[in-house]
Amino acid sequence: MVQAETFSRATVNSNGAILLGRRFEIDSFAGRPIRVISHFHSDHTLQLSKSKRTANHIVATYPTLEALRVLGQSLPEEKLLPIEYGRSIAFEEEVLTLIKSTHVIGSAQVLVELPDGIRVGYTGDFKFPGTNIMRDLDVLIIDATYGDEFMVRPFKREIDLLFSDLVADLLSKGKPVIVKGYHGKLQEAMSILRSYGISAPFVMPEKVFRLTEVARKHGLKINDHFSEKSDEGREIIESGWFIYMSHANARNNVIPSTSEISLTGWFFASPIKKIYENGKNEKWIVALSDHADFEDTINYVEEAEPKTLIVDGYRTSREVAENFAKNVEKRLGIEAKVMPNQ
Ligand SMILES: [Zn+2]
Repeated sequence: MVQAETFSRATVNSNGAILLGRRFEIDSFAGRPIRVISHFHSDHTLQLSKSKRTANHIVATYPTLEALRVLGQSLPEEKLLPIEYGRSIAFEEEVLTLIKSTHVIGSAQVLVELPDGIRVGYTGDFKFPGTNIMRDLDVLIIDATYGDEFMVRPFKREIDLLFSDLVADLLSKGKPVIVKGYHGKLQEAMSILRSYGISAPFVMPEKVFRLTEVARKHGLKINDHFSEKSDEGREIIESGWFIYMSHANARNNVIPSTSEISLTGWFFASPIKKIYENGKNEKWIVALSDHADFEDTINYVEEAEPKTLIVDGYRTSREVAENFAKNVEKRLGIEAKVMPNQ
C-alpha cells in the first residue's frame, strides 16, 4: 500500500483543486500561496476569484493568461507570474515547471520537485501522442476524460483529413459551412483546415476572433479570418462562401440555412456522421477531440511509469475514473486511486 504521506504531497481536494507539494493549488482553490492554471477552459479556472484574493502568485503560460483576458477574466496584474514551457521557478524549496501539453493553446502539465527528491505531476487535459511525458514521478495525477474502455476512436489518426474532406465537400455545394466547437478546439480546427488546403475565409464572433489572434501570436497557422463585426467580415457573409466558426453553445442568427458541423470528442462509432437533413439544411458531427482517448491515456501512463497514479475524479465522472484506475492496476500493475475521496 502507498503511504498516506505520498498523498499528502499530491492529491485532489473536494473543490477539484489539484494539490502538489505544500504550496501549489492547481485549477481550483485550496487557500494555498500559489495558484497555477493549467489552461483556460472553465473547468480548470474554478474558484479563481478566491485564489485572486488569497494567493500570492498566479502562475500560467503567457497564452493562457492572454486567453483568459479575452474570455473576460480580470486578473490581478501584480500577482501574475507568466512562465514559458520548460522554465522552472523555485518557491523556497519547491520547484515548479510547466511542461507543454497538446490540448489547447497554452495548455500545460505541472511538475513539482520537492526537496527530498520526490517528484509529483499533473497532466491537466491532454492529447497523446503529442504531449511530452513526465517521467520518474512518485505520483502522477492524470485527467482521464475518456477513461472508459469503450472510449476509443480507432479512426483518430485520419480524423483531420476526414474533417477537411467533409468541409470541402459541403463548401462545394455553394453554401456557407458552420463549424461549432469549444474555445481552443475552434482554433485547432482552423489550423487543420488550412493545413489541408481549405482556402475559404473564416468568419467568427469577435471573442473567437480575439482568441484566434492569441493562438496565431503563439504559433498556430491560421489566415484569412475575420470578425463578423468587421467590414470585411460582413462583405464575406454577403458573398455566401465562407466557414463560420461558432462556439458550441452559441446560437447563430447571422447565417441563413446552411451546413453545420459540430466537433465533439463524445463520439466513438465513426469519424463523421450526418445527423439531420431537411431541405437545404444538414447537420453533421465530427469526432475531433482535444483529449486522449482510453487507449492513449493508458499509453501515457505506461510510458510515464509513475510509482503511483491518481485519477482526477472531480472533472471526470466517478465511474469512468474508477474504471480507468482499475484498468491501470490490471494492465500495468501500477497502483491507482481516484481522488477526491468520496
Ligand atoms: Zn480543457
